[in-house]
Amino acid sequence: MNRPKIQIDQDACIGAENCLRYAPATFETDERGKARTRDGDWDPVESIRIAVESCPMGALALQEVENGGRA
Ligand code: SF4
Repeated sequence: MNRPKIQIDQDACIGAENCLRYAPATFETDERGKARTRDGDWDPVESIRIAVESCPMGALALQEVENGGRA
C-alpha cells in the first residue's frame, strides 16, 4: 500500500481548511487549528493533490511515493 508523503508547514498553515474540504479522510486540524494528517485510510492521491494545491498558504507539499515507499 503506497501512501504519498505529505509535508505540512505548521508555521505557514492558517487553518483555512481547504485541504480538509478536498481530502477529508487525509487531513484534519488539531486543537490549534493547524492541519495534520489523519490515521486510517486516506483519500485517493488525486484528491490529496487537489487538496495540496488548494492551500492558500502553500503550506502543503506532496511527494508521491512509488516503488514501495522507501524514503
Ligand atoms: S489548506 Fe493550508 S492553511 Fe488551510 S488548513 Fe490546510 S494546510 Fe492549513
